[in-house]
Amino acid sequence: MEESKKILLATSNQGKLKEFKKLFNKLDLICQTDLGIDDAVEDGMTFFENALKKARHGAKESKLFTVADDSGLVVPGLNFEPGIYSARYAGEEASDLDNRNKIIAELKKRNLESLPAYYVCVLVGIHSHDDPMPIYSSGQIHGKVSIKSDGEGGFGYDKIFYLEDPQTSMASISPEIKNTISHRALAARSFLAELEKI
Ligand code: IMP
Repeated sequence: MEESKKILLATSNQGKLKEFKKLFNKLDLICQTDLGIDDAVEDGMTFFENALKKARHGAKESKLFTVADDSGLVVPGLNFEPGIYSARYAGEEASDLDNRNKIIAELKKRNLESLPAYYVCVLVGIHSHDDPMPIYSSGQIHGKVSIKSDGEGGFGYDKIFYLEDPQTSMASISPEIKNTISHRALAARSFLAELEKI
């Protein structure tokens, strides 16, 4: 795909936006808030469905090639929660702190200090809202969630998400490192490779 073509990034989450702008620095991105486009309704049952819904909504409103993501935290030992509900785990208006506190409460309820967990990111790119052949990519990073909070960086669950190696919280590593190892970085890398083919 031509590098100069304007692409809509269908997200209004500031934390994700900051990371995507760096990951996709070769693309001419405009984000949906700049065009006054509201958020899509996320009523799918999977990360894939929700990412596609966001991409379709953005493409329909902007008439631009649109990239959308859906991401979240999955804790298999908590019935795969919060999953697609990561942004609203503790309720519709929940803050990142409320959501982290809910994970901590669930761990404490079970007398656990931590549980294995992973972050997932699914990316979808479509030429138009009725594009029959979207581009898909995904990435995961494994670690654990803990009752202990650490670090000042990142967003969302990063303060309680600990990497396997180095054993440190995602909020303690630099944005540069996060942007090379994260679920979003992995998904973005394979997405860019797919984009080059078209
Ligand atoms: P989405 O905007 O519906 O994709 O929701 C994503 C939610 O997953 C965010 O609001 C965070 O709670 C969580 N999440 C996704 N990626 C990250 C990350 O890199 N760090 C921390 N939390 C994340």
